Amino acid sequence: MSDQRIDLHAHSTASDGTSSPRELVQQAGAAGLDVVALTDHDTTAGWDEAAQALPAGLSLVRGAEISCVHGGVSLHLLAYLFDPEDPSLTAALDGLRQSRAGRAQEMARQLEAAGTGVTWERVRELGSGSVGRPHLARALVEQGLVPTIAEAFTPQWIGTAGRFWVGLAEIEAVVAVRLITAAGGAAVFAHPRATARGRTVDDAVFATLADAGLVGVEVDHVDHDAQARVALAGLAADLGLVVTGGSDFHGASKPVGLGANGTTREAYERLVGAASGVAVVTA
Ligand code: AMP
Ligand code: FE
Ligand code: FE
Ligand code: ZN
Repeated sequence: MSDQRIDLHAHSTASDGTSSPRELVQQAGAAGLDVVALTDHDTTAGWDEAAQALPAGLSLVRGAEISCVHGGVSLHLLAYLFDPEDPSLTAALDGLRQSRAGRAQEMARQLEAAGTGVTWERVRELGSGSVGRPHLARALVEQGLVPTIAEAFTPQWIGTAGRFWVGLAEIEAVVAVRLITAAGGAAVFAHPRATARGRTVDDAVFATLADAGLVGVEVDHVDHDAQARVALAGLAADLGLVVTGGSDFHGASKPVGLGANGTTREAYERLVGAASGVAVVTA
């Protein structure tokens, strides 16, 4: 059983969430969480605001979710408690955000050319930080072309390999695990069996990533059914990896609340013990 009071996966307006970092920690406190991790896509821009707004009794784990690829398959790594000034990791994150802006601009250009009324100016307003497809999806909702953000993630619109989809230049996952680890962080494989989003990697890749320094596997996640969770927990146990969980909260753009999935205290302590880049912030 996971302790739902430790939520190690949440997004803010620094990437594609809809709560500001300040609102996010306030919501986490109001939800009764003991620990929340801020894990925006490819950025640490929300860290300071979240730390400054932390309500009493809540601990903040500063992190990021890094866009990676392995063997042609996209995957996400959660990186926790790394040094945000590490030059190599910072350069990698800067490159990812530049790629995000370039591909979002290209998707917006194609949508505009198709007469949808979506413009890059509007998408940039909606996604002023680490811009992503949810911002394009919101622009499509605004134009009345899809009823919900989720319905923009289809082959007809901006679903992976869809009509208006443009790929992101991602970091090789083994390289990313090494970069995170060298920056004092702890790397966790995010939602490895989120099959609805596209292809996922084979079991053998977990051992490859573990050899590179991977610390944990995100088992308890909304995109994993009970069977996937059992299989992943088995893989993690075989490789001596920490089992984590989190809500993958995105505010109003996804129907999942803070604390919807969580991490046990024991697993949390192992994870924190594996990192040395920055400390957990307590209020
Ligand atoms: P990107 O990183 O820009 O390629 O966009 C991927 C992001 O889109 C994910 O992190 C989710 O926040 C969001 N996303 C992916 N699939 C869906 C979906 N079916 N419904 C809503 N949001 C989604
Ligand atoms: Fe996201
Ligand atoms: Fe993710
Ligand atoms: Zn996420």
